[in-house]
Amino acid sequence: MYRADEKPVCGHDKPITSRRLCITCYNHHYTQGTLNQFPTSNHRLTDVITEYRHYRQGGTSHTDIANHIGMTYHALHEALKRAVKRGLLDESER
Ligand SMILES: [Zn+2]
Repeated sequence: MYRADEKPVCGHDKPITSRRLCITCYNHHYTQGTLNQFPTSNHRLTDVITEYRHYRQGGTSHTDIANHIGMTYHALHEALKRAVKRGLLDESER
């Protein structure tokens, strides 16, 4: 998770959701398809899972989600496994 004193890069006084953006900006860039401008920091597991959920809700395939996030299918698969193990993701959401 992000530290409480970390500020989002968008400059808003809100907690960071993912990619160092607040939820408002994250959703904006998600909708616009411009999230790629904001790199995930080494694909933090929490970032990956946040984005995975977004795409999954839209019915996107694992292969396409991996592409969107900018990681390989294998890396995504491993991340999901870790997330389930750590209780970040429910087995049924995989
Ligand atoms: Zn913002």
